[in-house]
Amino acid sequence: MTDCLFCDIVAGDVPATKVLETDRALAFRDIAPHAPVHVVVIPKQHFVDTHDIAHADPELLGEVLRAATDVAVQEGLTGGYRILTNTGPDSGQTVFHVHVHVLGGKNLGALAG
Ligand code: 5GP
Ligand code: ZN
Repeated sequence: MTDCLFCDIVAGDVPATKVLETDRALAFRDIAPHAPVHVVVIPKQHFVDTHDIAHADPELLGEVLRAATDVAVQEGLTGGYRILTNTGPDSGQTVFHVHVHVLGGKNLGALAG
């Protein structure tokens, strides 16, 4: 076990329902879904947040985003979906291993302010 929950999921030390995996990215269902489809997509390598990965390895950030769109196709989100990422405490980020949320399966309405 590490001090990072998502690193522990990558290592298989914490169980998760995986929906997609590439060499460098992993997608699994959120434990507390906010929509009928709510999947979390992460790089397997640890980065704290979007700023961290965007500067250290922008190609990997692109791979995570591509995986997120592939999850949406796989989940049948033909009507559209939302990809969002929280960065820092004011955003509501609670797990400090960068991740994007893929939300869909219903009309999501306006982005909450
Ligand atoms: P954040 O709030 O940092 O943007 O998103 C973290 C997400 O991780 C939350 O939506 C939360 O429900 C999810 N989460 C927290 N702990 C676990 C867990 O143990 N397993 C899974 N699958 N998701 C988790
Ligand atoms: Zn981590």
